[in-house]
Amino acid sequence: MPQPLRDAVVGAGPAGIYAADILTSKVPDATVDIFDRLPTPYGLIRYGVAPDHPRIKQIIVALHRVMEKERIRFIGNVHIGVDLKVDELRQFYDAIIFATGAERDRSMRIPGEELVRSHGAADFVAFYDSHPDREQTWDLSQQRSVAVVGVGNVGLDVARMLARTADELLSTDIPAHVHQVLADSTVTDVHMFARRGPAQAKFTPVELRELDHSPNVQVLVAPEGMEFDDESEAALSRSKSLRMVVDVLSEWAMRDPKPDVPRRIHIHFLENPVEILGEDGAVIGLRTERQELTGDGNVRGTGEFTEWEVQAVYRAVGYRSEAIEDLPFDTRRLVLPNEGGRVIDLDGAPLTGIYATGWVKRGPVGLIGHTKSDAAETIANLLVDAPDLPPAARRSAAAVDALLAEKGLPVTDFNGWDRLDAHELASGVPHGRARVKHHSRAGMTEIAAKA
Ligand SMILES: Cc1cc2nc3c(=O)[nH]c(=O)nc-3n(C[C@H](O)[C@H](O)[C@H](O)COP(=O)(O)OP(=O)(O)OC[C@H]3O[C@@H](n4cnc5c(N)ncnc54)[C@H](O)[C@@H]3O)c2cc1C
Repeated sequence: MPQPLRDAVVGAGPAGIYAADILTSKVPDATVDIFDRLPTPYGLIRYGVAPDHPRIKQIIVALHRVMEKERIRFIGNVHIGVDLKVDELRQFYDAIIFATGAERDRSMRIPGEELVRSHGAADFVAFYDSHPDREQTWDLSQQRSVAVVGVGNVGLDVARMLARTADELLSTDIPAHVHQVLADSTVTDVHMFARRGPAQAKFTPVELRELDHSPNVQVLVAPEGMEFDDESEAALSRSKSLRMVVDVLSEWAMRDPKPDVPRRIHIHFLENPVEILGEDGAVIGLRTERQELTGDGNVRGTGEFTEWEVQAVYRAVGYRSEAIEDLPFDTRRLVLPNEGGRVIDLDGAPLTGIYATGWVKRGPVGLIGHTKSDAAETIANLLVDAPDLPPAARRSAAAVDALLAEKGLPVTDFNGWDRLDAHELASGVPHGRARVKHHSRAGMTEIAAKA
């Protein structure tokens, strides 16, 4: 094994941080540099988890302790594959673990996706979480009814954020411009559509129940979609969590609308979106085809269509990873091709010293906690391979730093993150807010750099 082992992790989301933690715990003298293209660590915990989920964001406390380890360095503002090529990186590290996550929307492949106000969920999430590289203007002031396609946890976040009133979110970390857009919102009805039945929904019970916590929002489930076939019944008897989800949905399906609640979320099962309808280039509706269960948990179209009058469509049908220059990419599963975290080329041969973990390894499913077991598998395989890994040619921190300086990259480090974090938290105090999140990359880099 190269002595002492010197590795890089690309991506400072939870998967990358867990990988660095496990590696440095198992190999007492190993050192790890964690790169991120953003000036800040924590990936989708900062730029994906909804602002009204402060409890989930507390995972950062444990990840912070990992990042403080002496043998781990954070190097922000370095886009691997763009600022620094994979081949350049390889000269400095014995192994490189890619933990680059999944940040973009999958396509639904239906007509009308390109219309104005047909939005990817990832774009809306990046807006309300104020991602520095993404669109920061949004308009909810001309819409009354909107559609959310997809019934997973991301769909729930999007529906909840569209339905909750701005003032309910004032104490969270949403920036002022996001609060203003929500305050100007005229949305009263959010319709969620699922192609399959309630027993096939991908919600988790806690996240589902949360949908109904706002006094300003009533959740209603269309009773005609509450259908179950033999496979649905079998799935319900196998999974306690699914049973809890279906119990909640069944209760909501029996409710009457309350006239004094100003906003509603309607959940429609067995309605498959087939076309986003437009006029003058913008969304005016959504056409769905009624589905029926086929007995084995699958569905087929009935030929019965409905047109829903909605002024915007949010497509929450899954995230996708992006290819990294000089690495193979599985264009079907949209991940780095790998076996147990060992990245393989398109012929199935492992690439020496190249690994993957997290969402870029197994696709965009699972909660933050799942990325830990994922990292454990990848690191276990890396350590099996380690005795045969050729040592990197220029294996010192100073050599990497010299190249980054030569390229003139405005890199940030973990002390810089601590400064930015303290600044954001302090800015929130006078307003009774959790934090005031900075959204410009240059502004964050400047605050991080002030020693
Ligand atoms: C909208 C949404 C809400 C969610 N809510 C919850 C929740 O409430 N609870 C929960 O447990 N889970 C939630 N999740 C799931 C959770 O976010 C993921 O399980 C987890 O973030 C995946 O971790 P990761 O490290 O693989 O990817 P990420 O968190 O995406 O981290 C990847 C990192 O890699 C960096 N990167 C990407 N490409 C490059 C490159 N080329 N060079 C350098 N850096 C790069 C990115 O900037 C990013 O920081 C949510 C997910 C989404 C999408």
